[in-house]
Amino acid sequence: MQLLLSPDPRTEILRRLQAALIASFGRITRPADKRRSPEWVLVHGVIGAQTKTAASNASSDDLLAEFGSWDAVADVPPDQLEERLHRQTFPAVAAARLSQCLQAVKAERGSVDLRHLSNLPTDEAMAWLEQLPGVARKNSAGVMNASTLNRKAMVIDGHHRRIMQRMGIVAPKADTARTYDALMPIVPPEWSAENMDEHHLLLKKLGQTHCRPRKALCDGCPAQADCVTGTSAARAR
Ligand code: SF4
Repeated sequence: MQLLLSPDPRTEILRRLQAALIASFGRITRPADKRRSPEWVLVHGVIGAQTKTAASNASSDDLLAEFGSWDAVADVPPDQLEERLHRQTFPAVAAARLSQCLQAVKAERGSVDLRHLSNLPTDEAMAWLEQLPGVARKNSAGVMNASTLNRKAMVIDGHHRRIMQRMGIVAPKADTARTYDALMPIVPPEWSAENMDEHHLLLKKLGQTHCRPRKALCDGCPAQADCVTGTSAARAR
């Protein structure tokens, strides 16, 4: 006899959350022509620590425009990369990490070319990326999901992790990798890679407006009905 496992209730919470966020903020979708190459997304993630997305976008675009290819960027000495990465919050760290990462890709693949990832299952491709210097789960998931690879992988930044913790969907102290491992099995199976990307962008918006790092503004938060923290705050009043 085959046992039928009942679905995890958190899957339905994620569906309701997505609908509530869209009702509140509208659709936030990334058009297909705005998807960048896997190499661009890798660079963007490696230099992006503690830096606003727009600044990292501009730095990545400028590097490619100035040197013409990621292979050429890989050969730029770190002190010269540092000058070009002045918009990043930690330019010296970003330059060193970028140089090491691109050199490692070149050493393994012969050039800064990630086309082989499209032939690998998503988890294997992410494991390959995470053995590169400076690449952790957020960046490996970003390369798979937010680039032209367009794979089902949840990108989890600080906003996303904090909201999942406060809502009681993942453990309170789960780091990015544990949050990813907890979320991927409960993502609604009908969600496409684009739905996952939109979910991440909507949660980022929620983290900037209501579920802020220092203080959660639960009144009027679209996630409150399904949030452990938000409902206990409402009961305490
Ligand atoms: S209800 Fe409060 S704690 Fe929960 S997600 Fe919204 S702002 Fe964050």
